Amino acid sequence: MKKLFIVLGIIFSLGIISVSYFTFLGKNNVKSKNNICAFCNPEVLKTHTFYEDDLVRGLCSYKPVFPGHCLVVTKRHIKSFKEVSDEEMIAIASLIKKINDAIQKIMGPSIYLIQQKNGSGIQSVPHLHFHYIPRKDDKSHPVWIGLDFLWKFCLSLFKSPMSKEELASCVEKMKMAI
Ligand SMILES: [Zn+2]
Repeated sequence: MKKLFIVLGIIFSLGIISVSYFTFLGKNNVKSKNNICAFCNPEVLKTHTFYEDDLVRGLCSYKPVFPGHCLVVTKRHIKSFKEVSDEEMIAIASLIKKINDAIQKIMGPSIYLIQQKNGSGIQSVPHLHFHYIPRKDDKSHPVWIGLDFLWKFCLSLFKSPMSKEELASCVEKMKMAI
C-alpha cells in the first residue's frame, strides 16, 4: 500500500510539472530580439556553434538538461520532416553520431536521449532541431534513470541560462573533441 502511494505521488508530481512545462513552452517560443528564429540568428549561432558543414550545425544548449546537452539544427530554416531533404537527414544522423563520440570522450561512459519535437505547443523553436541529451552512466536503477531524465527535462525550462563563460567552455570542449 505504501509503495502504491509513492508511485501515485510521483506520477501526480510529474503530471503537474509536465502540464506546467508544456503550458509555459506553448506561450514562450524562443525568439531573438528582432523576432527572428533563434537558430537563424547570427548572434546565437556565433556563440553556440561548435560544428558546421554545408547542411547542418551543432550547437551547445543554453539551458542544458544535463551537462553536454547539444542541438543539431539544419542550416535552412525549415520546421519539420515535411520539408527536410534526404541529404539533410543523413547529415543530421552523421552529426548526432559525431556528437555521441565526442561526449563519450569528454564525459566517459554515458547514456543519452535523442529528442525531436514538432508542432505548436511542444516545439520551443519552430526550426527543425534534434536534442542530444547525455547522462553519465552511473549504473543507477533504470527506473531512477528514467525519472531523472523526465524531472530534469521538465525543470530545464525554468533554469537560468548558462553564463557566457560556461557556454564558451562547452563550445570549446566540443570543438576539441569532435
Ligand atoms: Zn530558423
